[in-house]
Amino acid sequence: MINLSDKVALITGAASGIGLHTAQYFSKAGARVIASDINIEGLESAFANSPNPIDFIAHDVSSEQDWQAVFEFIKSKYQDFNILVNNAGIFKDGNIEDMSYEDYQSVFKVNTLGTFLGVKYAIESFRAFGKANEPVTGSVVNVSSMAGIRALKGMGAYCASKAAVSNMTRSIAVECGTNGEFIRINAVNPGTVRTELTESAFGSDFFDQFSQDTLPIPMADYGRPDDIAAAIAFLASDKAEVVTGADLTIDGGWAAGLAGLN
Ligand code: NAD
Repeated sequence: MINLSDKVALITGAASGIGLHTAQYFSKAGARVIASDINIEGLESAFANSPNPIDFIAHDVSSEQDWQAVFEFIKSKYQDFNILVNNAGIFKDGNIEDMSYEDYQSVFKVNTLGTFLGVKYAIESFRAFGKANEPVTGSVVNVSSMAGIRALKGMGAYCASKAAVSNMTRSIAVECGTNGEFIRINAVNPGTVRTELTESAFGSDFFDQFSQDTLPIPMADYGRPDDIAAAIAFLASDKAEVVTGADLTIDGGWAAGLAGLN
């Protein structure tokens, strides 16, 4: 298991799916976890009986005020801040002719602008917690998607919002890599794993009846949220100390081929 002892980590969208599994993984790996989500009841039921204490906090990632409040909380309670996992995300399907401006915008507000705000305030916080005569350190992992590196039919808004996350990751990594700080920014690209998001998008039948005819995944395995959590933990950890601007695709080989969901 990756060692995250004593790391202070904020994980967004942690009430369910990949975020929930990542928070649990980080906690087992020794991190002090702050789990945030727009769904506070979901956080309460997920973490009320957690074996290790996990702080949870209501947080809409598309609200700049909420980001400021979350980092105020971290400043008031912790002596350090080391890791942000920008995981919260939403999905809306529809071809271009069916997609309203408002729907397209709402996907970007959460997936892309929410990620931007997270990176911006995390970097500010890494610097604020910096120690005298030591370089500033910190690690951000953005949860992009296989849909951010490939086009999938009927998912244009989601694909574009995640493509922006993927290139935002590289752009900010380049900025942060040139001023003597050790702030790393990487992304993961999950293929498809079974969560509330994918069950409501594709239906549970999609997973129950999964075969290579429904999805051309070379390994014939769509993976689990813990597979994504482990990849996030690696990128967030000191084991990846010279990894920045990278993205790690975890999809059973799906993106390596050409076919999508068409
Ligand atoms: P999920 O729906 O199970 O969990 C997403 C969480 O984000 C929920 O708890 C939800 O309440 C929260 N959330 C939604 N809007 C929010 C907001 N404005 N502010 C804060 N929290 C908000 O979904 P998931 O599948 O675990 O997805 C997590 C991330 O992984 C998303 O960014 C998604 O795009 C990405 N992803 C998922 C898959 C997959 O197959 N499940 C594939 C590729 C990428």
